[in-house]
Amino acid sequence: MRIVVGTKNAHKVLELQRILEDLIPGITLEPSPEDSPVEDGDTFSANALIKARSAFAATGHPAIADDSGLEVRALEGRPGIFSARYAETGLDADNTAKVLAEMAGVEDRAAAFVCAAALVHDGGEVVIEKRWEGSLAHHPAGSGGFGYDPVFIPEGHSVTSAELTAEQKDELSHRGQAFRALAPAIGALG
Ligand code: IMP
Repeated sequence: MRIVVGTKNAHKVLELQRILEDLIPGITLEPSPEDSPVEDGDTFSANALIKARSAFAATGHPAIADDSGLEVRALEGRPGIFSARYAETGLDADNTAKVLAEMAGVEDRAAAFVCAAALVHDGGEVVIEKRWEGSLAHHPAGSGGFGYDPVFIPEGHSVTSAELTAEQKDELSHRGQAFRALAPAIGALG
C-alpha cells in the first residue's frame, strides 16, 4: 500500500514507517513531492489536516500528516503550535533554552507533548489527537530524539525522553499513540 506523507522531513517519514509497519504489513510511506503548505491553522488538528489535504491534492494518493508540539501548563499552553519556531532561530537548543528561561523559578512544571495525526483520501478525512503527559526538567539531559526531548520527563519516568531508546519512545509518545489510533483507518484502504 502506497501512502504519501505531508512532510519534507525524512526523519519523520522513517519514524512513521517504523510505527506503522508493525500494524499494516507491506505499507510503504513516501514523502510528498510538493512544497510545504502554509500552516495557518490555530490547532494541531487543523494544521495536520492542511498538510495531509495538500499532499493528497498534489499526488492523488492517500496522504497522512501530523502536527505536534509541547504544551506547558504554567505558560498557558505555549509554545503549542509554535513549538518548532519558538525562538527566533528555530534551533532546538534555542527553543529549549527559551522555554527553560520562561520557566525559571516556576514550581508547576506540568507539560505534555501533543500530536494530531491526519489521513486524507478520496473517501474522506480522519484526524486524531493524542497527548503524552509529563513535566519539564530544570536542565537538558540525554542525546536521543530531537526538539524538546532533553527537557521532557514523561509521567512515570525519572529520565527525559532524550534518554529513552527510539523503541521506548515510539511505544509511549504522542506520535506513536496518534498513529497507532489512526492505523485501522489507513489499513482499511488496502
Ligand atoms: P512539527 O510537528 O514537525 O511541526 O514539529 C513541531 C515541533 O514540536 C518540533 O520541531 C519540536 O520542537 C516539537 N516536538 C514535536 N514532537 C516532539 C518530540 O517527540 N520530541 C521533542 N520535540 C517535539
